[in-house]
Order: sequence, then C-alpha cells, then structure tokens
Amino acid sequence: MSLKFNTSLEDLRNLVNLHLGAKFLETDPNWQVLDSSISGRGLFARRDVNVGDVILREPALLAGPKAGQSTNINTCAVCYCRLEGNDQEILCKNGCTMPVCEMCCTSERHVGECKVFRKWKPKENGKVNRPALRIVSIIRCLFLNEDQHKLLYALQANPDKYYKAEVQMAAACFEEFTQNKDVLNYFYRTICAFNTNAFEGSSCVGGHEVLIRALFPVAGLMNHQCTPNANHHFENGETIVITAARPIKEGEEIVTSYSKILWSTLARNTFMKLTKQFECCCPRCMDPTENGTYLSALFCRQQGCKGIMIPVQTKTLQPDWRCLTCESVFPHSKMARYQDFALNTINNRINACSISDMITFINDMCPRFCPPSNYVLVEAKLNVIWRMSRATTEVFTEEQLKCKDRYRAELLELLEKLGAGECTLKKLITEERL
Ligand SMILES: [Zn+2]
Ligand SMILES: [Zn+2]
Ligand SMILES: [Zn+2]
Ligand SMILES: [Zn+2]
Repeated sequence: MSLKFNTSLEDLRNLVNLHLGAKFLETDPNWQVLDSSISGRGLFARRDVNVGDVILREPALLAGPKAGQSTNINTCAVCYCRLEGNDQEILCKNGCTMPVCEMCCTSERHVGECKVFRKWKPKENGKVNRPALRIVSIIRCLFLNEDQHKLLYALQANPDKYYKAEVQMAAACFEEFTQNKDVLNYFYRTICAFNTNAFEGSSCVGGHEVLIRALFPVAGLMNHQCTPNANHHFENGETIVITAARPIKEGEEIVTSYSKILWSTLARNTFMKLTKQFECCCPRCMDPTENGTYLSALFCRQQGCKGIMIPVQTKTLQPDWRCLTCESVFPHSKMARYQDFALNTINNRINACSISDMITFINDMCPRFCPPSNYVLVEAKLNVIWRMSRATTEVFTEEQLKCKDRYRAELLELLEKLGAGECTLKKLITEERL
C-alpha cells in the first residue's frame, strides 16, 4: 500500500535495497518506487514488461504460520516442513510450545523466539495454542536489525482497535506475557503494519502445502486496482513472486487486488473499507456495468417487470438502483436486503448440498430469484467447478460434466470482459487446480 511521507524516497530505496540484499537485488530491476496518483507511493514499471514476466522476487521481512482455526498445525513454525506425530510430538523440544522440527529447535532463527515464549510461560504445555502461534509472525519483530526496523516503521500502519485483540488473545495463552508498555506498543504497531500491508497465501514447501502470512515491504507497496495487472504467489515458504498478468508499459503503475476479482463493486468496496480503510476509484469501479459483466445485477423489484437493476451512482456504498428495462429507481436499503437474501440462500446451499444437488439448484432454482450475472451465482459456479475437480466419491452424469464445462466457459468469458489477462484465477480455472 502506501508509505508515510516522513521517509524520503531516497532513504526508502536504500532500506529496500538492504532488505533485498545480494540474493534478491537485481542490478537492473524492471520496477521502481515512485509517488502514486492512486495512493501514497507505488511500484512502477521501469520498462515494458511482457505477460508472465517475473517483476519482483522478495523475501519476507516478517512471516509466520497463519494458524487460523482450520489450518493444519503439523508444520514447523520456522522452516514450514511437515511434522509427523501427535500434538505432543510436534512441539519444540525446548518447551516453547511452538511446532518446530528437530533441525530448527536449535537454529539461530528459533533460539530467540523460543526463549521469549518460555520466559512468558505458556499456560498449556502439551499442545499448540493457535493464538500464540499466530502471534509468532508479529513477535519476530523483536529480532529485526536496525535497518529492518527502520523499514518496518516506514510502512503505513492503519490503526484499528480490533487489532489489540490479537495481542490480548495471544497474551491469554501465557502466565507471564510481557507487561512492558513499549514492547506492547511495538507489537500493536507491527500488527497494524501487518494488517495494512501483509499477504496471506498458500506456499508449497517440499510438497507440503502451508498457509503463511507475511510482510513484504516492496510487494506491499503495490496499490490496489480491482482488475490488477500483476499476480503474486509464494515460493519456498517466505518468498513472494510478482508476475505480470497483462503487458505493462514503461512508466505504468504495477497494481494488485486486495479483494476478490469476481465480487461486485459494492462487495469489493465494502470489504476494502472495512479491512484497508480504502476506497477504490479504478475504471472498473467507475463503470456501473463493470465492463458489461453486470456482477452487481439484481432483478427489478417493480411488479411485472423482468428487467435487471444495477447501482446508479458509483462513488458511494449506498447507491440508488435503476432498472435497465422500466427505469424504476429503488433505494439501496431495499436492494441490499434483496442481495443479502440471494447471498444467504445460495451460500447456505453451497455448504449443505451435494454437488449434483448444487448443479440442479443453480440451473433450476436460482434463475427465479437471481440474475445469472450476479456475483454470488458466479461464485457458486466456481465452487461447483472446484468441488468437481477435487477427488470425490460422487459419480457425475454426462449432463453434469457438460454443466461444469459451461460454467468454466462462462467464467473465462467473464474474466476476458474484465480484462483480467493471465490472472491467477484464469490459470486455476483452465488447469482445474482451484
Ligand atoms: Zn523446521
Ligand atoms: Zn522452541
Ligand atoms: Zn476498483
Ligand atoms: Zn424494471
């Protein structure tokens, strides 16, 4: 995202170069940091970049396991290798309660954080505590060198009172969590920088898929556009790779997306306002038809009319809606209730139905209350493709397989209309690796 302007461009470039180090700093990179018209500072192409070209490879400044409710914790918190054994067997041999492999127990990277955890005295010794594990990526800020520390403080950090809860939840896992105000403030500041700039994603380490959250100061500089020109993925655990999804011209800003590409404009902007305190004004957001995809469309509420309605204004989260057929206008409150109804009806089915029931529901029931272009229905189709491409015991009929192909073609056409280029989702749909 953007940076506080109290760090000069020159200082920032030096800190970034030190951070990239000999291994990642290219002699003639195809990106540079400049002031951005979107927000703060951004990454810009120094020369023309072709589709698929690697723009940047960057190591994490801070990283750790995501450790969400449903994540697999049989992963070393340091090298992300797969750990075999029960809860007790995967824990660090030195008693810090992090899952750590034998090699990493005594590694330089782990020794410091291991000591910190033991000093704080974990309440439950025989198991991994998820909130404690989640805070590992944050407390690693204690071990940054001076230049890394400066770089961390150059990053924008949007405050949010809910972020304090993350420290409190971790603190509750220990008998003697730090009470030091400066340290607590440092953790809070780091969480703010993390939640403003960090990337979460899956990374494959030695054939083992792990979920990681990590802070990349350079990649984090990328501003948002709803149909971005760059893709990112993780490599070997803690490295991010940025590639071009479309040809990028010299001088053009390199942008990523903070939300989901298939969401409607209102859904994307509501999400970004909540999570990033950011309002997007990209060309897609300014076009009520969203490049003719009508991802927001809902059926007209006027009796007897079968037309579709789309938001009239673009720069508000509470627009009026107008029917494209009868031109009736309805207030956002009414349409929002209708959108929520469609969303809940469809999502409840997704979670409860077999694949074949879901196909029947999408084809026969949904057209009665939801236009086919609406993003909730589009995402439901994506879900069907995803479930069908996974190993399953369900046997599919010829008809159902045809439906999957049709959904896939529709989704690819939609991405084409959005101008998404060779985006990650296109790759996943084409290769059925969802
Ligand atoms: Zn390890
Ligand atoms: Zn340890
Ligand atoms: Zn936008
Ligand atoms: Zn109408």
